[in-house]
Amino acid sequence: MDIRVTGFDLNGIGMTSQRTRNRLVQRLKDAGIKSQAVLDVMAVTPRHLFVDEALAHRAYEDTALPIGHGQTISQPYTVARMTEALLAAGPLKRVLEVGTGSGYQTAILSPLVDEVFSVERIEPLQRRAAQRLETLGYQNVRASLSDGTWGWPEHGPYDGILAAAAPEEVPQSLLEQLVDGGRMVIPVGGAVQKLVLITRHGQHFSRKTLESAKFVPFLSGIQR
Ligand code: SAH
Repeated sequence: MDIRVTGFDLNGIGMTSQRTRNRLVQRLKDAGIKSQAVLDVMAVTPRHLFVDEALAHRAYEDTALPIGHGQTISQPYTVARMTEALLAAGPLKRVLEVGTGSGYQTAILSPLVDEVFSVERIEPLQRRAAQRLETLGYQNVRASLSDGTWGWPEHGPYDGILAAAAPEEVPQSLLEQLVDGGRMVIPVGGAVQKLVLITRHGQHFSRKTLESAKFVPFLSGIQR
């Protein structure tokens, strides 16, 4: 497939090299990720550029890593699983992401869908991620400082919604911003969380639990 990731050096050296990324992709396959499109994008996306330089050597381990402000860049397996579930019924045009964080999940979605709209509530993270995505040449991404409880109605409705933070209950606005037939992948719960896939059928929403999960909490308001 043609993967539109441009504007940066993909090769890296040592622990950030293509060979290191290929090892990660093999791990993801072993862990049950089947979508070749998702695996191909994971193979070329430079996760080491989405974490602090001091952590770059750990970027291709299959673990979450701190990105500051009490938040983490999601585990590669989780990113792959969520993306695969979101795309499983066919190609998506417009996707809303709640919780930009480092921008890594945004970068994985970007070549796989027509447009990504991504919101983040912590200003310094939002600013850094937006700048990083622009520098790396992700042209079909719009990022904004906003509380995702309200979705991003100006650009909706969305064919897909993906949340990287867990609310106790799925916000009504997010459900309303799904197109008929649209899909949402979101972790739900507090101490015990489940990753769920919600599909809209008119005014009815079906829910399927994908697996247990451990995400940061979905919080309201903007943090400056
Ligand atoms: N996919 C990101 C995950 C970051 S962690 C990555 O791989 O880097 C989840 C992010 O969701 C955090 O940055 C947190 O600040 C953000 N978040 C939590 N609640 C939110 C809300 N209501 N609106 C927008 N962002 C939110």
